Amino acid sequence: MTSLAPLAPLGILGGTFDPVHWGHLRLAEEASEQLGLAAVRWIPAGQPAHRHAPQASARHRLDMVRLAIAGNANFQLDDAEVQADTPSYSVPTLQRLREEQGLARPLVLLLGADAFLGLTGWYCWQELFGLAHIAVATRPGNPLDAACLPAALSREYLARQCDDPARLKSCPAGLILPFSITPLDISATRLRESLALGHSPRYLLPDPVLDHISRHTLYSPSPAP
Ligand code: ATP
Repeated sequence: MTSLAPLAPLGILGGTFDPVHWGHLRLAEEASEQLGLAAVRWIPAGQPAHRHAPQASARHRLDMVRLAIAGNANFQLDDAEVQADTPSYSVPTLQRLREEQGLARPLVLLLGADAFLGLTGWYCWQELFGLAHIAVATRPGNPLDAACLPAALSREYLARQCDDPARLKSCPAGLILPFSITPLDISATRLRESLALGHSPRYLLPDPVLDHISRHTLYSPSPAP
């Protein structure tokens, strides 16, 4: 009897990407390498459910991600949340990917530490563990320490924590793996603020994304009163 080789995990990177920046790209690249991912699926949120409305339209945010990941054969763009006319929630998105990928494929939801710290505010957050592993990347200013997590999340973290990326292949879902990436203290919020003040965001995000922002006057400086 031949045994099948374990399937390489699929990484999933959701976000508002308002706009996408080098912090997102390094997160995807380093996760891909360290966790042995088959690919990273980028899923821009159409109408993010857990935060204020984005400044750029869903279509522009999708286009910016497309420009940012162009040429990386390991990165895939998924426009389903942008096309949907309902708020974007991770649980139905992961259910869709589980159906698409089959029951055996490990799915790995990639989160920065700030997003993980807020997980208990997500719709049906405990269902996430039945659908995917969660890999939590370090992010400057957001220390990941079980003692700082809400009690319910701390319990899940302690029960599911895993330090060996090779274990992600051993089951399709349910582990929480913290991992370190190059600290890049870049945030979309600060990029929007800086653009609104007319400051240059160059070298904080890819040039084609910056060109798109200029061409469509996204995040433009507020007119003088
Ligand atoms: P905003 O400032 O508007 O909240 P953001 O820069 O945090 O945006 P999101 O689109 O909300 O970007 O982030 C998508 C995912 O990428 C989240 O899991 C977030 O934690 C992660 N992420 C964003 N920036 C970084 C960074 N510099 N380092 C590590 N992870 C990051």
